[in-house]
Amino acid sequence: MKTCSACGAPRKLTGNHRWLSGGTIVEKSNPSHRMIFIENDNILEVFNLVEEMVGLSLERLVIESQRKATYDYVDTIVPSLARKIMRVTSYKPVVRSLVELGRTMGFGGISLLDLHIKRSEGDFVQLGIRDAYFLPGFCGTVAGAMEVVSGHECSVSYRETSPGYHEVTTSVSTHPRELVERLQWREYSNKPGNAALQVCPGCGGPEILADYDFDLAAGVISRRASGRRMVFNGPAEFEAILDELEGELGEDISRILIEAQRRFVKMGFYDTGEVQDTGMFRDHLALRGFGNLKDISFSGERLRVHLENPCLHLLLVGLVLGFFELVFKREGKVEWELAPGGDLTVEVTPA
Ligand SMILES: [Zn+2]
Repeated sequence: MKTCSACGAPRKLTGNHRWLSGGTIVEKSNPSHRMIFIENDNILEVFNLVEEMVGLSLERLVIESQRKATYDYVDTIVPSLARKIMRVTSYKPVVRSLVELGRTMGFGGISLLDLHIKRSEGDFVQLGIRDAYFLPGFCGTVAGAMEVVSGHECSVSYRETSPGYHEVTTSVSTHPRELVERLQWREYSNKPGNAALQVCPGCGGPEILADYDFDLAAGVISRRASGRRMVFNGPAEFEAILDELEGELGEDISRILIEAQRRFVKMGFYDTGEVQDTGMFRDHLALRGFGNLKDISFSGERLRVHLENPCLHLLLVGLVLGFFELVFKREGKVEWELAPGGDLTVEVTPA
């Protein structure tokens, strides 16, 4: 895989995505599809905390939502003509290319172990993965991608064959995929803004990616200064999981999610110095694709944040609340509003 000689980021990554002035990351070929670049532990911990709070395993829900979301995503990146051709020639090249894409995104050390697709019962694809970023999410991704490739419904299972290494098998059923309901995608706002990240002269991606290490063989991206693992993913996938969770449990998932993110931030994961410097905080959010910081003000004991084009806004609300509590060293009370145009305002005052 080619990397940029100036910043070291994979060309496939900076070539296929755009970091826009509105603080968003979008796919070049499908600008309505947003992406985020997020600390892996943030995903894992928030799901762990939500599971703890609702007292249920979310694994099945995560696999199902991710399967539906990936189907829609891969459906746009693998042209229908290519699919028709491979169905009469070979599936291997496209499966290999998806495996490579997964490693570029930081999903883990993925390899193709076995593949049997003869368009009959018993067809399957088996992948190995070392250090999966989020195993249920990965399983859903594999099943969804395979549904696009095969045109049929797929199920998925996994087993850990040695510590940190899983074999993930997706089995292709004989039911055509067309019958399955599609995911309702959330529409995000995308106003131009002032979140201009410095551009790398080598590849056109954000220059700040030079602070990250891309181990493409291991499928692991990490921030050099902190050693924290990062991953690229779609926010809509997570929003879909949360919507389904709300539908199934009928609980106030907003409250639970804000609380989970607040607890996560209070574990001391993020650098509070970054938040108190407006420019750094704006860059931090824009690099991750979370939106454009319009304004942040600390006045007296009040923290107020105004953000355009947010995604996963409940995590952002929890983030601001957690930061308030870290900076002021006291409990906060949060109020927030997501305006019809998509702007998010969050205000925290002492509880
Ligand atoms: Zn570059």
